[in-house]
Amino acid sequence: MNNLDVCPFCGSPHTKSCEVDINGWMVECMGCRATGPIGRTEALSAAAWNKRFMESQPALTTSA
Ligand SMILES: [Zn+2]
Repeated sequence: MNNLDVCPFCGSPHTKSCEVDINGWMVECMGCRATGPIGRTEALSAAAWNKRFMESQPALTTSA
């Protein structure tokens, strides 16, 4: 599974999820070293990263 969005900070597609602890996965950007929220599984950390990517796009969420 590797369907990560590009980094919301530098736009780099070079992001990967790493196991940082027992039941702790975190997505890290290889471009600017930004990290996403820690999730209990690789899939959850990826979902959290992608969610943060969406939330970082204010132009797409002005309807609220
Ligand atoms: Zn980055």
